[in-house]
Amino acid sequence: MLSIEDITVNYGSHTALKNATLRIPEGSFTGVIGPNGAGKSTLLKAMLGLVKTSSGNVNYRGKPLAQQRGLVGYVPQHNSVYWDFPATAREIVAMGAVGDSDLKKRAARNTAVTAAIAKVAAQEFQNQQIGELSGGQKQRIFLARALVSNPPLLLLDEPLQGIDAIAGAQIIEVLRQNNKQQHTTIVMVHHDLASAADYFTHLALINKTVHTYDTAQNALTAAALEKVFGIPPQILYREQTRPQSQ
Ligand code: ADP
Repeated sequence: MLSIEDITVNYGSHTALKNATLRIPEGSFTGVIGPNGAGKSTLLKAMLGLVKTSSGNVNYRGKPLAQQRGLVGYVPQHNSVYWDFPATAREIVAMGAVGDSDLKKRAARNTAVTAAIAKVAAQEFQNQQIGELSGGQKQRIFLARALVSNPPLLLLDEPLQGIDAIAGAQIIEVLRQNNKQQHTTIVMVHHDLASAADYFTHLALINKTVHTYDTAQNALTAAALEKVFGIPPQILYREQTRPQSQ
């Protein structure tokens, strides 16, 4: 169980999250949904101890998660990463092995890196500079970095943002396989409501606090959506499926 109890996060005088409580079962694949600025990224950062909380705690398997970072793979938001960093894709994946005592020896590390690269089907571009890759390729490399030490818990901040449908489907497939085969508990921030019921086993609807947490089938009621997004769901779905203007 990943247990988020009564978390409050303030940025100066701005409260990004207030008394957020969420109990995520082991082995679930949870989508975190909410409008822009709802505190979705903040929730993930608070779980990892990357932002200061003014109340609450986050426990994983009964102990503070921030003290068990080795059990967590984290894929940060695309726009928070400095992509001109001079490293090959393979070197970035290898960074995920830092701190894993089982992967201290070079041979073990190489095997794990190769396996993670294979999982995301990135063999062809593993020796290219990270800055030269497409958005979808970069995201697959960051996913491989998070998977390299086989963590039981994965946190992903909008991994499908800014990438095309095919690249997105590839990433979802890797996550699904991991969730099914390794029973990895996955928490993923996602913005597309139309695919939410299809991708996830559970959904958290948040807007400055957790309004609903339930199975994906039960969470998306009209009342819950209207409460979180502040507009009727018919309008919401129409907005999301409208073609982008040129
Ligand atoms: P979401 O991921 O749902 O879009 P965020 O967690 O990024 O929301 O942000 C929640 C709120 O906190 C927003 O109003 C955002 O502007 C604000 N915020 C986020 N990070 C910071 C920061 N480092 N300093 C000040 N305000 C921040």
